[in-house]
Amino acid sequence: MSQNAENDEMPRRAPALATRLSHAGRPQDASLPFVNPPIVRASTVLFESVGAMQGGKARYVYGRRGTPTSEALCDAMTDLEGAAGSVVTPSGLAAISVALLSVVSAGDHLLVVDTAYHPCRHFCDTVLKRMGVETEYYDPAVGAGIAALFRPNTRAVYLEAPGSLTFEMQDVPAIAAAARARGIVSIMDNTWATPVFFRPLDHGIDITLLAATKYVGGHSDLMLGTVSANAALWPAVKETSGSLGMFTGADDMFAALRGLRTMDLRLRRHQESALAVARWLQGRPEVGRVLHPALETDPGHALWRRDFCGATGLFGVVLAAPYPSRAVAAMLDGLRWFGLGYSWGGFESLAIPADVALSRTATRFEAAGPLIRLHVGLEDPADLIADLQDGFRRLTAVAAAPADETDL
Ligand SMILES: *Cc1c(COP(=O)(O)O)cnc(C)c1O
Repeated sequence: MSQNAENDEMPRRAPALATRLSHAGRPQDASLPFVNPPIVRASTVLFESVGAMQGGKARYVYGRRGTPTSEALCDAMTDLEGAAGSVVTPSGLAAISVALLSVVSAGDHLLVVDTAYHPCRHFCDTVLKRMGVETEYYDPAVGAGIAALFRPNTRAVYLEAPGSLTFEMQDVPAIAAAARARGIVSIMDNTWATPVFFRPLDHGIDITLLAATKYVGGHSDLMLGTVSANAALWPAVKETSGSLGMFTGADDMFAALRGLRTMDLRLRRHQESALAVARWLQGRPEVGRVLHPALETDPGHALWRRDFCGATGLFGVVLAAPYPSRAVAAMLDGLRWFGLGYSWGGFESLAIPADVALSRTATRFEAAGPLIRLHVGLEDPADLIADLQDGFRRLTAVAAAPADETDL
C-alpha cells in the first residue's frame, strides 16, 4: 500500500479515493491476517510487568485511549481527510463540541456561519457562552469579507457548506486563507460532502469534522462522529478529546468502518438519484425553488463546481406558494417511500418539513412557501418521483379544500 517508489523510474501517482476507501485503516499486523480489524471491546489492558506499565512505551494502555478497532477507523479517516490525526466521538454533535473546545478559551470571539447545523448554534449559545466565549454568526456568502469581522480576540471561524436546511455554499478557500493570514483557526463541518466529494484540509481548513452517523455509517444504525486535524492543530484536538473522555463502542466503530468501504459507491448513487429527483421537482408548478448546489440554477453552483467533486442526496425544496401547514402535512404523511424522520445519510429516503426562522440571526431566508428537506436514498428514483407526484396531489387537494373539512 505505501511501498516507497525509490526504485521506480516514474513517480507513483497517489491512489484514488475509491482505492483508499477499500484499503485505509486496514490491519498492518501480520499476526492478524484478516481483511478487517477485530472488534475489540475493552476497558482494561494488561501489562507484562510493572516496568512495561511505567515505561510509557506500551501501544495500548486503556480502552478509552485506543484499541485496534478505534485505530483502524481513525487511521482511515486520517488518510481520507488528508489529516495528521483523527479522533472518534460518540456523535456528530460531540465532534462539533470537541473541535470547538480544542480551540476556544474564555474571552475569545468565535465566528460561526449563520447556516450551521442548529444544535451547533445551541452549543455555542449555551455552553460556550457560559464559558465566556462570544459567538457571532456570519452570512455564508461573506467570502474573503470575513476579514472585516475579525477582532483582536477572534480565535476561530466555523464553516459548514452547503448550509444546514437551506444549502448555501461558502467560499471555503477564501475564508480559510483570510483566517490563516491572521492566525485564526478554521473548523469545518464536512458531513454533507464527506471526504469523497470535498476535502476541507486541502482547501486551507485546519480542523474538519463529520457526523459519521450519516454517510459513513450509511445504514441509519449508529451514532458516531470524527474530528480530523492538520499537523498544527492535531495535538490540541487529541488532548481535548482525551481530556473530555471522548470514545465510543467497538461495534459502532466497526459498523462505521464497514460503511466506509462502500461510501464511494453509495454516494455516487445518492448523487445521481437526488439530481434526477431535484430536476423533476424543478419542473413542477407546486415548487418555487430547489436548493441544491449541483443544479446549474443554484446561486452556489459556481463555488460547488470549483471546489467540490460531487453532491450527495440531501437537498431542500421551497414550495411555490404559502401552502397551509395542513396541506404540507397531508403531502408528507401519505408518502410511501420517504420516511418522516430526522438525520439522513442512510440507504433510505426521508422527508421533513423544515422551519429555519429560529436558526438564522445574521441573515434572513426568503421563501415564497414552506420548505421541505428531502434525503434521496438508494431506492429507484422513478419510484420516489411517483411518490412525490402523489404527494403534490394531496398538497393541492387539501390546500384547495375549506380548512374545516380537513381539520378532522
Ligand atoms: C446530523 C448532523 C450533525 C450531528 O450528528 P449526530 O451524529 O446526529 O450528532 C452535525 N452536523 C451536521 C451537518 C448534521 O447534519
